[in-house]
Amino acid sequence: MYLHFDVKKRIFISVIKIYSYIYAYIYTYKVDLPIIQTIMKKCLECNGEIEGRSDKIFCSPYCKSIYHHKKNRGKEKNFYLKVDKQLKLNRQLLNHYNKAGKAVIRKEELLKVGFNPKFFTHYWKNQKGDVYLFCYEYGFLEKKEGEHVKYILVQWQDYMS
Ligand SMILES: [Zn+2]
Repeated sequence: MYLHFDVKKRIFISVIKIYSYIYAYIYTYKVDLPIIQTIMKKCLECNGEIEGRSDKIFCSPYCKSIYHHKKNRGKEKNFYLKVDKQLKLNRQLLNHYNKAGKAVIRKEELLKVGFNPKFFTHYWKNQKGDVYLFCYEYGFLEKKEGEHVKYILVQWQDYMS
């Protein structure tokens, strides 16, 4: 009798473990696995029981809209973090290659280390019409020199405001 209870307990724990692995997988890889939810008959949002059709993955339209809202918020946040990270990397690289305050570097050399010229914070146009793009206080101007494309690196100055 005691042993029987122990076996039941073990099976129960294993089932709980399997369920938690499945949930961990879903949340870690941010994948929709409606099939698993369908088998489990649990709402993807509130984890409540789902009644009715077996292909339903939410218990209510409310849970459905909350779930999609959260998912979109997550996407927005990911985009924000991606842009933020690239801007910081760009700034760091411009700073690194512009130790002297003014420098010239081949574009491809900067691209190779992860610089992405599409991401910048603001620009400054000089009287000749050259547009310097800035990542915070470090700027770059693309110049063609023969067959090479180069960047002229500058630092933000008060008169540029
Ligand atoms: Zn629900």
